[in-house]
Amino acid sequence: MSQNRRNISRRKFLKLGGGVAVLLPLALIATDRAAAQGKASKEAVQYQESPKNGQKCGDCQFFTSPDACQVVEGKISPNGWCSLFVKKAS
Ligand code: SF4
Repeated sequence: MSQNRRNISRRKFLKLGGGVAVLLPLALIATDRAAAQGKASKEAVQYQESPKNGQKCGDCQFFTSPDACQVVEGKISPNGWCSLFVKKAS
């Protein structure tokens, strides 16, 4: 009886461990996808959809027309702003 109990516990433990072993790498892959592209998430750089102190994505050296950024992931508005702003050389 006690041997049977131990086997069940071990089985449950292995099942849980197997689930974690499968899910953890998948979660890490999903969250690191942006990092693998070499781009920061909008949240990490405090991206906003409006200009800040006269600075906007359309004037930033990292902006790529019409709606992308070389260093921040996702769709970027030319009127947006983030903490990585660097004024485009004129
Ligand atoms: S301000 Fe930020 S999001 Fe906008 S183009 Fe520059 S680096 Fe990209």
